[in-house]
Amino acid sequence: MRTSIVWFRRDLRVGDNPALRAALADSDRVIPLYIHAPDEEEAGAPGGASRWWLHHSLESLAATLGQLGSPLVIRRGPSAAALVGLVRECGASAVHWNRLYEPATIARDSKLKAELRDSGIEVASHNASLLVEPWDVRTGAGDPYRVYTPFWRQCQPRLAGLPVPAAAPRHVPGPATPLGTLQPADLGLLPRQDWPTGLARAWTVGESAALQALADFSRERVDRYKEARDFPAITATSRLSPHLHFGELSPHQAVAATLAVAADPERGAGAAGQEHFLKEVVWREFAYHLLYHYPHTVEEPLDGRYRDMPWVDNAAALRAWQRGETGIPMVDAGMRELWTTGWMHNRVRMLVASLLCKNLGIHWRSGAAWFHDTLVDADLAANTLGWQWTAGCGADAAPYYRIFSPVLQAERFDPARAYLRQWVPELARLPDDWIHRPFEAPAGVLAAADIRLGRDYPQPVVDLKSSRNVALEAYSAMRGAGPVNPPAGNGRTSRRDSQ
Ligand SMILES: Cc1cc2nc3c(=O)[nH]c(=O)nc-3n(C[C@H](O)[C@H](O)[C@H](O)COP(=O)(O)OP(=O)(O)OC[C@H]3O[C@@H](n4cnc5c(N)ncnc54)[C@H](O)[C@@H]3O)c2cc1C
Repeated sequence: MRTSIVWFRRDLRVGDNPALRAALADSDRVIPLYIHAPDEEEAGAPGGASRWWLHHSLESLAATLGQLGSPLVIRRGPSAAALVGLVRECGASAVHWNRLYEPATIARDSKLKAELRDSGIEVASHNASLLVEPWDVRTGAGDPYRVYTPFWRQCQPRLAGLPVPAAAPRHVPGPATPLGTLQPADLGLLPRQDWPTGLARAWTVGESAALQALADFSRERVDRYKEARDFPAITATSRLSPHLHFGELSPHQAVAATLAVAADPERGAGAAGQEHFLKEVVWREFAYHLLYHYPHTVEEPLDGRYRDMPWVDNAAALRAWQRGETGIPMVDAGMRELWTTGWMHNRVRMLVASLLCKNLGIHWRSGAAWFHDTLVDADLAANTLGWQWTAGCGADAAPYYRIFSPVLQAERFDPARAYLRQWVPELARLPDDWIHRPFEAPAGVLAAADIRLGRDYPQPVVDLKSSRNVALEAYSAMRGAGPVNPPAGNGRTSRRDSQ
């Protein structure tokens, strides 16, 4: 009687799950395990909003596995002790898991794999979350990529050849006698304040919800994705990011659904939208490629010239930014959307980040930390890429002179001001010409709407024009300093079997 353990981590699904599939293929009994050990993830440990998601995702996975025949076993870390303990309890001869790619989890998993193998336990790791392993794509010169477009060109031809996503198993044969387990509620993941109310209103968590979201997007929105994706007032993007982060959905499933739409002759008019969506899914791959090859970027800029950037310490401005009280409506709208729903539209993420790093001169790491704590899709790889891109110091970065104007961005991407009116209702009475720049509105316009700045809505925390000039000077000065392209940080060149 052969028993295997499947160690679930950020692959909280039963469909298209290579570790679960491999265990089912060669075992009589399969024990699904989740270990709560956030300290081991260091910078990648879930923040507040992610912990809320994780609680519900674990509940959903536990319900599914219970129905399939093998209840989820939840234990507390340290992971090594929890794994070894369960191996002994259930007499398992093998452990399967799907790989993670953050620096801390790579180190932990490599060590664990060696220790378990030394104790005579078989260990197999699988790929459940990336379309291309970070070590499988290289530039012509053999280096990791630092620019997105050639990375995409390498990946694109591989998409059609990816394995077909596997269906969920119909049965998972469980242990002969029940094993001790904690419940998700025992892990204390839910925040104490009423924060979850907004999150619960915005999201349905779990594998079935993820598959439903993908089906809805593929049926209704992907064809218009390219032209509609930049308008935050409409639901035009997939909103799959938290599902992908927690592995309730595999990127393979997202790609397969899109390729199926692309193969439908009646959906030919949506070809540009379908391809653009695939490109965005591959941005996620690019983020993991960068984090894997340049793990120091969690803390340090990829572009070494910006290492000694003179960041400003301004706690009051940071707090105003976090609370959506900067007095700059498009920024406040985004920050309130984030706090209320745990998500922010990509276009708005770029402009709130630009205001923080460029106009306010505050370190991108402060912004990344707030996003990490408040996003339900907080992801070390994508968040690091997004912040360094906006701060102009990462791979494929926005040019240093690109400083988003929240006023022009509102004019272009919120033409009816619907996004602003939703999230900054105290300005709703202002006409379209002024709601995105109340600080420039004539006194009569403000009086007619009965709005006084400083009383009903904050004065702007920074002058957009003069701060832009200060930022340009600081960035220009930095461009002369340090090497642009330091070598890849971890020296890894080949497939990591150790992980
Ligand atoms: C400052 C900043 C911080 C960010 N932090 C995160 C983060 O912590 N987690 C996160 O998942 N995304 C992050 N992003 C990227 C992007 O904003 C989100 O992935 C996207 O808004 C999620 O919404 P969606 O699922 O509707 O995306 P869609 O537009 O439908 O895209 C589909 C999928 O592609 C991936 N994707 C799209 N754009 C990017 C990108 N620029 N980088 C990496 N993957 C991408 C996501 O997995 C997304 O779900 C950040 C962007 C910026 C500018």
